[in-house]
Amino acid sequence: MNAAPTATAEATLTDAQLRSLDVPGPRYTSYPTADRFVEAFGPAEYRQALRQRAEGAVVGGAPPLSLYVHIPFCDSLCYYCACNKIITKHHDRAAGYLELLAREIELHVQELGRGQGLSQLHLGGGTPTFLSDEELAQLMGLVRGAFRILPQCEVSIEVDPRTATRQRLRHLAEIGFNRVSFGVQDFDADVQSAVHRVQSYDSVQELVHEARALKFESINADLIYGLPRQTPESFSRTIAQVCALRPTRIALYAYAHLPQRFKPQRRIAPAELPTGEQRVQMLGNALAGFVASGYVYIGMDHFALPDDALAVAKRQGRLHRNFQGYTTQPDCDLIGLGVSAIGRVGATYSQNAKTLSEYEDALAQNELPVVRGLALTRDDLLRRSVIMGLMCQGRVEYESVELAHLIDFRETFAPEFERLKPLEEMGLVEVGPQAIQVTATGWYFVRAVAMTFDRYLQSDKVRERFSRII
Ligand code: SF4
Repeated sequence: MNAAPTATAEATLTDAQLRSLDVPGPRYTSYPTADRFVEAFGPAEYRQALRQRAEGAVVGGAPPLSLYVHIPFCDSLCYYCACNKIITKHHDRAAGYLELLAREIELHVQELGRGQGLSQLHLGGGTPTFLSDEELAQLMGLVRGAFRILPQCEVSIEVDPRTATRQRLRHLAEIGFNRVSFGVQDFDADVQSAVHRVQSYDSVQELVHEARALKFESINADLIYGLPRQTPESFSRTIAQVCALRPTRIALYAYAHLPQRFKPQRRIAPAELPTGEQRVQMLGNALAGFVASGYVYIGMDHFALPDDALAVAKRQGRLHRNFQGYTTQPDCDLIGLGVSAIGRVGATYSQNAKTLSEYEDALAQNELPVVRGLALTRDDLLRRSVIMGLMCQGRVEYESVELAHLIDFRETFAPEFERLKPLEEMGLVEVGPQAIQVTATGWYFVRAVAMTFDRYLQSDKVRERFSRII
């Protein structure tokens, strides 16, 4: 393992240090993480949280909402997939699903009232573009009938290039989408065939050019490293090709091979996976390649061009994090609609039923399809503010946490300061008299820094359900 110094130009980590950092860890799209949600939190508790929001809104005016809609269907199976999806060729299933979403939206309107302002709307999956143009327009109509899309609203959709054309992108722009995210993963034909996801460079290039011509405010490309048959050389070619396309954002995810948990991954031959050394090399090459092409490192797995809203927010210390990853949106309530969708309302998290039949049954009984969730304790809220501060700003000021949570920071987190020491010695954080500061090198391992403050993780030695940090 000797590629990291190129990845983190500011400091050189030894092989042993890198190995100590290459452990499974949460991505902290929430804290506590979703695996901590409990079944004792159900529809009644979620409804209560919605009512509290509605009552608060009467007193102080409703803060904007973020809305996530999960479309679970996909035409074919990608072998690396770890998402909640339903593989089907029957596109007529989408119509019934839209009816269920309509019912779920109405149940929310009953609690919140009609016309709540939306500052963010995201369609994810599965494959949102499994829906036809008409069905997508119908879905946008449902959303508009219940909520008010604010003028600056970020309206984004995940686009599978295999299900999109220039005409489709034009239609997406017409019905209000202003951000697109393309699932690229890797351009190498051998890798594409090993993961059963074949799409040509030319088709993606055409779509990215069209999205730019249509003036989508943000164009994202998702990549994955650590896939079967990937080599540092082949992945470097993909990196160069992606940089040439010039998306405004790039997300680079590490493939986590967990075949016991994710059945599709059993079709991947372990012998074809790159070694740990090759993974580190690919990560290093990608970081160096993106930075050399003018991309700014946002944090964890995100990169953006300097004038993209995400890069601007990072410079101005306005970065936030929600279930979709880094965002410019302030911490607003998030309503999750559809199978397995996760929401965050007030000091609660909630998750919908993971199977379509369970989701359908709840709605048939006019019940919100929430099956688990969590009401956060004071300690959860305190640690969430520290963890999100580290993940988003790379800095936590003791005084601001003390004022917000009425604690003595150093006293409360004495064990955490001890656990930070090795990371400080590696040059990943600076522990000062007023603040903890993540260093430039530390940004690449910010999950490891945040994990120090995760109370659940400290009492839990079984971390294999999380993806690896490197
Ligand atoms: S990776 Fe995406 S497109 Fe592929 S099967 Fe999974 S959800 Fe569907």
